[in-house]
Amino acid sequence: MSEKPVLLVTGGSRGIGAAICRKAAAQGWAVMINYASNETAARSLADEIEAQGGEARIVKGDTSTEEGVVAIFSAVDRDFGRLDGLVNNAGVVDIPQNVVDYSRARLDRMFAINVIGKIRCASEAVKRMSTAHGGRGGSIVNISSMAAILGSAGQYVDYAASKAAIDTFTLGLAREVATEGIRVNAIRPGVIDTDIHASGGLPDRAAQMASVIPMQRAGTADEVADAALYLLSEQASYVTGAMLNVSGGR
Ligand code: NAP
Repeated sequence: MSEKPVLLVTGGSRGIGAAICRKAAAQGWAVMINYASNETAARSLADEIEAQGGEARIVKGDTSTEEGVVAIFSAVDRDFGRLDGLVNNAGVVDIPQNVVDYSRARLDRMFAINVIGKIRCASEAVKRMSTAHGGRGGSIVNISSMAAILGSAGQYVDYAASKAAIDTFTLGLAREVATEGIRVNAIRPGVIDTDIHASGGLPDRAAQMASVIPMQRAGTADEVADAALYLLSEQASYVTGAMLNVSGGR
């Protein structure tokens, strides 16, 4: 069993998830880096963390499938033998479209990854961390989005709705496991400079949105990671069911 507390970060290989893995490893967590397909990015992040004296493993697994969830948690059990934190980060956008144009396939993918996958991962984490199930407690941080309260009209209302579902899930789960040693919180990032915008067909979105953000700039993955590390830490020992906006005021 790992001597260090163990953190699983879904979608930990790039963007916000990778920044969380780096900072968590530097603060003494052993990290399990989950990725969907880009093994090179995951491997290179793990190598970087280990070169700096940290502990990291990688696991391929699509959080939207049962097979993926089983693979991810089996790797945690096998490689570390314990789990103390989950950052439920894996998430996707889609190309900008109005609601009238959405296909069924678009909605199935969006909700399978952004909602059902996160609920399944939280469920598996609770089984391992809950004091009611013999665990030693822990912390879950769900990565939501400011889209949950802005609505993302004309861009991706489906994404916004998936994130609103995560906010409600965060509140409900936090209350459900509050006496089981587990805190559950969410972060609502605003516009953060990562590759996710290119994956939605808008590679320059972070720069283009700067003028509508009160702080007049996009945020960085590191700024979201700092918030996640706070929520995972003992400094947040009385914080549960909270939604922390990391959005430059927007
Ligand atoms: P990103 O740069 O596109 O990185 C996405 C990460 O998630 C990658 O590691 C990717 O793995 C992984 N991933 C994607 N689908 C997956 C799946 N089905 N199963 C497992 N892993 C999967 O994204 P990001 O900008 O860092 O976003 C991370 C989270 O923050 C998402 O939940 C997103 O909705 C949220 N968020 C982002 C912003 C923003 O402006 N960037 C704003 C608000 C909220 P591969 O490398 O294998 O592809």
